[in-house]
Amino acid sequence: MAKMRFFALQELANRTALEVIPPSNKLSDYYGSHVFDRKKMQEYLPREAFKAVTDAVEKGIPISREMADLIANGMKSWAKSLNVTHYTHWFQPLTDGTAEKHDGFIEFGEDAEVIERFSGKLLIQQEPDASSFPNGGIRNTFEARGYTAWDVSSPAFVVDTTLCIPTIFISYTGEALDYKTPLLKALGAVDKAATEVCQLFDRNVSRVYTNLGWEQEYFLVDLALFDARPDLCLSGRTLMGHSSAKDQQLEDHYFGSIPPRVTAFMKELEIECHKLGIPVKTRHNEVAPNQFELAPIFENANLANDHNQLVMDLMKRIARKHRFAVLFHEKPFSGVNGSGKHNNWSLCTDTGINLFAPGRNPKGNMLFLTFLVNVLMMVYKNQNLLRASIVSAGNSHRLGAAEAPPSILSIFLGSQLSHMLDEITKQVSDSKMTPEEKTTLKLGIGRIPEILLDNTDRNRTSPFAFTGNRFEFRAVGSSANCAASMIAVNAAMANQLNEFKAAVDKLMEEGVGRDEAIFRLLKEMILASEPIRFEGDGYSEEWKEEAARRGLTNITNVPEALMHYNDDQSRSVLIGERIFNESELAGRIEVELEKYTKKVQIEGRVLGDLAINHIVPIAVTYQNRLLENLRGLKEIFSTEEYEEMSADRKELVREISHRVTAIKTLVNDMTEARKQANQIESHKEKAFAYSNTVVPYLDKIREHIDHLELEIDDEIWPLPKYRELLFNK
Ligand code: ADP
Ligand code: MG
Repeated sequence: MAKMRFFALQELANRTALEVIPPSNKLSDYYGSHVFDRKKMQEYLPREAFKAVTDAVEKGIPISREMADLIANGMKSWAKSLNVTHYTHWFQPLTDGTAEKHDGFIEFGEDAEVIERFSGKLLIQQEPDASSFPNGGIRNTFEARGYTAWDVSSPAFVVDTTLCIPTIFISYTGEALDYKTPLLKALGAVDKAATEVCQLFDRNVSRVYTNLGWEQEYFLVDLALFDARPDLCLSGRTLMGHSSAKDQQLEDHYFGSIPPRVTAFMKELEIECHKLGIPVKTRHNEVAPNQFELAPIFENANLANDHNQLVMDLMKRIARKHRFAVLFHEKPFSGVNGSGKHNNWSLCTDTGINLFAPGRNPKGNMLFLTFLVNVLMMVYKNQNLLRASIVSAGNSHRLGAAEAPPSILSIFLGSQLSHMLDEITKQVSDSKMTPEEKTTLKLGIGRIPEILLDNTDRNRTSPFAFTGNRFEFRAVGSSANCAASMIAVNAAMANQLNEFKAAVDKLMEEGVGRDEAIFRLLKEMILASEPIRFEGDGYSEEWKEEAARRGLTNITNVPEALMHYNDDQSRSVLIGERIFNESELAGRIEVELEKYTKKVQIEGRVLGDLAINHIVPIAVTYQNRLLENLRGLKEIFSTEEYEEMSADRKELVREISHRVTAIKTLVNDMTEARKQANQIESHKEKAFAYSNTVVPYLDKIREHIDHLELEIDDEIWPLPKYRELLFNK
């Protein structure tokens, strides 16, 4: 194995950047070339088929079988112009990543001759044999069938020689087994609820869309070095490794120049994204060495999420070509910043108003304030749901690690906007407002746009920050499917807006004027949600104490955080807004718990193997060398001289023995803890057992190994070290 490390380092010395040439100098020549978008539909579909698709997208009208055949045919013709031979229903099961099963267009015609066919039936629905996707007990094995069904709102696209059709994935009995189905429901729910609230102000609004702009952080590691680290290959993170003498102290990586081999990778990635109509825009280095970020221009949340999933796939493949492995794990290296996926979220009306941006007049600002305050209330009431939506085995190493938001939810607004809200609570009295109050209020509200223009103080330590025209949910993990958090945020927002609207209606029925009713409720909500607002340093210890005083929850244990999907409040959001039914919610929790258990289980196994098969033998080899040295010294020198010159080596021999014994004992104990945990039937209890009894061993074992790494001859150390993984380009 030690050989692997040296081969890898040798390979590295010979790496060069690939040359990447775009298909054309003009981006518009190839942007979207691999997407069956409106323009291509118009070209390849008969008029009535084109109308059927647009009606389905815009009005949700089902597509008839006859039309589906026409659409499939047009789609096939287009795909064949790109030399496509296969098609697949592309979906997002509850694992990390996407799934696809490729079928050829090939079929036998009536006279047994080979023909190429793609019918409407194949386009609209498929039955993948999917019994091994996680489903949380929803599907019994005897009916282990799932269906995929075309999501018309996300266009088909071509990767390599395969036509990919974005689909939802549901069980035989109709329960969602994927991320897309509930995301579409949550987006529908927030559309409906937000539209009703908008209509209090503006009758012209008939739809509200959700926008998502994700920022994806990741690490690149040389492929040969990656392959020589079984822990990275199997668990996505380094389970051992002493910190490098230099890592990110100098912060010289951030916005530093990007190495040529990485630039080549990024360039090719960008080209492939653009062909697929993914509007990637920014790329830069992140804080940690070898860490980078990619962000597109925001899009409709469903499409943005599909694009994020697609980009993660593309990155893996393109990285390989450039001899890199891409790491999406939230914390691949201990002691070095981890990776997140910021979700920039906003709501926008079909009349073109961004509901999280202040308007040009007091009326527009009232609309803005209404949505802003409802977000405050939504996050305040749903801290536990939002947290449940972002926790995972990987993210648990990042959250609260003095580099990422803690496990406490809070909102940053900026001092001026905060001050403005406080003013409002003072001005609006419980009874009817006086004309003066109304005037000052209107003046104050009228000032919001200027306030925001001036307000450039950005707080990077907040998990849920207002950034001028959107909220940025920063606690999301880099490997996550954005849908999990977007389902929670949008469903909770729908629920909050529905409650708000009902309260306005009630006051109005009691004879309170509309504006008065809205003011009164906003004031109540500003006061009630005050604890969720925090402008200070979210990474500090003081905040933890302060948050506890405010009664905010801070849950770092993953299974415990997940169980809050079952809180009354979470249930009234998820089940109340019809995002999940009972069995879907139960299934989802089970899947998440099981994912957690499995990840920890894999880490435990890999660490155990590496410790016993790689590290201990090397430690013993080195110890033998020391012993040989000691024996030689003893032979040659006088007892007195020998005693004097051998003390340090004897100590080292003792130390190595101590660590080897400790490692063996700890690995045995950990294996025993896993065995015990594996006996447990309940997913919940098992996950708790893993987190309480297995996880603590990982760090304990690692500590001994990391010390050995410092003590043992570098020449024989088997695994690539941090300095090699992190700094070689
Ligand atoms: P930063 O790193 O400063 O947060 P970036 O420009 O890297 O900013 O990323 C910001 C992301 O937010 C981009 O994807 C951008 O398109 C997105 N974004 C900008 N405005 C909105 C908005 N109104 N709604 C949703 N996302 C937005
Ligand atoms: Mg950001």
